[in-house]
Amino acid sequence: MSPRPPADALARAAGHGVHRLALPTPFAVGLVNTYLIEDDPLTLLDSGPNSGTALDALETALAARGHRVEDLGLIVISHQHMDHLGLVSILARRSGAEVAALDALAPWAARYAEGMEADDAFANSVMTEHGIPQDIRLALLAVSQSYRHWGAASTVTRPLADGCDLTLRDRTLRVLHRPGHSPSDTIFHDVQRRIVLGADHLIERISSNPLISRPLDAPLDADPPPARPHALVSYLASLRATREMDDVDIILPGHGDPVTDHVELIDERLRMHDRRADKIHRLLAERPLTAYEVAQELWGNVAVTQAYLTLSEVLGHADLLVADGRVVEQRDGEVVRFAAAQGRGE
Ligand SMILES: [Zn+2]
Repeated sequence: MSPRPPADALARAAGHGVHRLALPTPFAVGLVNTYLIEDDPLTLLDSGPNSGTALDALETALAARGHRVEDLGLIVISHQHMDHLGLVSILARRSGAEVAALDALAPWAARYAEGMEADDAFANSVMTEHGIPQDIRLALLAVSQSYRHWGAASTVTRPLADGCDLTLRDRTLRVLHRPGHSPSDTIFHDVQRRIVLGADHLIERISSNPLISRPLDAPLDADPPPARPHALVSYLASLRATREMDDVDIILPGHGDPVTDHVELIDERLRMHDRRADKIHRLLAERPLTAYEVAQELWGNVAVTQAYLTLSEVLGHADLLVADGRVVEQRDGEVVRFAAAQGRGE
C-alpha cells in the first residue's frame, strides 16, 4: 500500500473519531499535538504545556467540536515532557477526568517538582563527567529552572502496565512502552483501525533526540547519582519493535504531521544513526575525546540551550560504539574520554 498524504491520514483518523488539536508551546519545537478521541469517555491524549495560551487554544479547539474541558472523562499522558503533561492537573481538576499513564511514570508525575530538581542534579553530574565546562552547566541549569513551570505535578488515577489494553466504549488501545526519547514514552495502538498514537517516539521532520534522562525508578535523593542510562541503545530497540508492527497504517505523532510509512522512516533513522556513529568513530580514531569535545567537533559552539541535546546525542552513539567493541571508555579523574579500540581500525 502506498503511503497516504498527511491530510488523508488526518481525515481518516478523524473519521474514526480521533482529532488532532495542535497547541502552542514556548519551545523551539513549536506546536504540540494533543488528540481528542470522541468516544466514551471523551478522551484527550496529552494536554499541552501549563500555560494560559495553551489552555485558551485547547478550549477553542474543543469548542469547535462541540465540547468543553468539563466534558473530558479521561486524560492520557504519553510521556513525561512538559509540553505533553503541563495542563493535565488543571484539566483533571476542572473535568473530574481520570488520568491514565504508564505505571512507571505515575510516581514521577506526582512529584514533578522534586523529579525535575533531581533530573537537573543528574544532568549536571552527567555533564561534569563528560567535559562540559562549568559556565555552560550553570547557564543550562538556569534555563531549566526558568522552564520548569511549563510543567506541573499530576495525579495518575489509572496506571497502565506495558502491554495492557485501555478500553473505551468503541475501541481498544494497546499500551506499549517504547522508551528512548524519554524513559516513559508510551504509544497507544488501535489494532483494529491500524492507527497508533505515537507521541514523540517517531516524528517525521525531526529525529526524536534520545535525551539522557534520570531513570524513572531512581530514588529522588540517590547519592551518588544513578548510572547513566543508554538512551540511544533503548531508543533503537524501541524503533525496531515499532518497525516490526505490520498492522499499522498511520502513526499520529506529538509534533507535526502523521507518519504513513513507519518502516521506511525508521529504516532512514537507523541508517542516519549508523552514519553518525561511524563519523564519531573516525574522530575518536584520531585521539581520545570527551563527549563534549566530540560535540564541538561535530557542531561547533552550539547555543547553551542545545548543549545537553548534543551531549546526549554524542553519548548515545558512544554507547553504541562501546557496545560494538569499537570504542572504549577511559576514566581520568572525574572526566570520561572515549577512544577507538585498538586493532579495530577501519
Ligand atoms: Zn517529548
